Amino acid sequence: MNKVMIIGAGGVGAVVAHKCAQLPEVFGEIVLASRTLAKCEAIAAQLPRSIKTACVDADNVPELVALLRAEQPLLVINVALPYQDLTIMDACLEAGVHYMDTANYEPLDTAKFEYHWQWAYREKFEQAGLMALLGCGFDPGATNIFTAYLAKHYFDEIHTLDIIDVNGGDHGYPFATNFNPEINIREVTAECRHWEDGAFVTTPAMSLKQSFTCPEGVGSYNIYRMYHEELESLTANFPTLRRAQFWMSFGDSYLKHLEVLGNVGMTGIAPVEFNGQQIVPIQFLRALLPDPASLGPRTVGKTCIGCVVSGVKDGQQKTVYLYNIKDHQECYAEVQSQAISYTTGVPAMIGAKMVLQGHWLKPGVWNVEQLDPDPFMADLNAYGLPWTVVENPDFTLV
Ligand code: NDP
Repeated sequence: MNKVMIIGAGGVGAVVAHKCAQLPEVFGEIVLASRTLAKCEAIAAQLPRSIKTACVDADNVPELVALLRAEQPLLVINVALPYQDLTIMDACLEAGVHYMDTANYEPLDTAKFEYHWQWAYREKFEQAGLMALLGCGFDPGATNIFTAYLAKHYFDEIHTLDIIDVNGGDHGYPFATNFNPEINIREVTAECRHWEDGAFVTTPAMSLKQSFTCPEGVGSYNIYRMYHEELESLTANFPTLRRAQFWMSFGDSYLKHLEVLGNVGMTGIAPVEFNGQQIVPIQFLRALLPDPASLGPRTVGKTCIGCVVSGVKDGQQKTVYLYNIKDHQECYAEVQSQAISYTTGVPAMIGAKMVLQGHWLKPGVWNVEQLDPDPFMADLNAYGLPWTVVENPDFTLV
């Protein structure tokens, strides 16, 4: 019986648990472990079959190793926070368990969005005969695989990549984040980097925007260029790329709140002293904001996330757009979560399935675009995230 351990019982962890529970033939046994046992139990109570729950501090390697040795899963699906990636990788190595995650390791005190800490584990995983699969959510994750799929089936050589992440959802709050607020705000306030002619070019955060009209009537939104971690691995794995950019939609109210919060210092990640206590402003802000997991019932509208790739095929220049559209309320009806957690959790479940079924299983540390995109793409259609390809779309991007 294939046994997996999901670590992290937040918005994404809940979706991964639901989707794995729906596939008993692949995920024979499931353990959901997190810092707060009550959150694991609340998720377990929603599921169609019984799973085990456990309490673990994923910052603590010996504690993780003890749990892994006791449970002996084949694979850990890490959907805790990026701060725990390395401790969980260390524990997997010690206990002989395959590893996967949806976000690159982040040190607590600096926002980096870089893979080098995890890539440095390559030899250790290879020597142990274990696999570490990195960044298997939607972006990173599905977007990397979309790029690999287009490169494989539509082009001889790819030259430009624009990843466009639109969330047309409305939760009715003046300000809330759709996934972990600390990680989300770190991402959005970081300087922008995009790939241009062989190097990353840095520009101020949110300094370039354009309007983008989503297909299938999802609507028109302002999208802003920002840095996103998949640009690092994609430009390394597709060296013919001359330009690679990531765009995300933001509403005016979100940006106004973020500007004010930034101006008063509430988005800082360096500790400040308050009444004799060290407080990290962004962590305090997180405590005030709505829990992303609570947005599910009140979020309406759709997400539209995809990749626009241009390049050459048989000597001809062409552009292809590959995207998924997902309705927030449809996600809530299925797994009691909004679409941001859903679009992250489903690719994580499929990535785990790819490893357990052997399609992707190989020792070492891998980014998802390095593996065969075809079985993953087929499973996206089968498990809730159908996609569409448009050749030579009728829009042009900046
Ligand atoms: P949440 O904050 O909702 O959930 C995080 C969970 O991890 C919580 O249950 C939390 O426990 C648990 N956790 C935190 N620290 C520890 C610890 N030391 N030991 C054990 N458990 C811990 O985040 P999300 O579910 O929104 O995001 C999960 C991950 O998914 C993040 O890494 C995020 O960056 C990534 N992500 C990736 C996306 C992609 O497309 N690739 C998109 C969205 C998210 P507690 O409940 O006690 O706080």
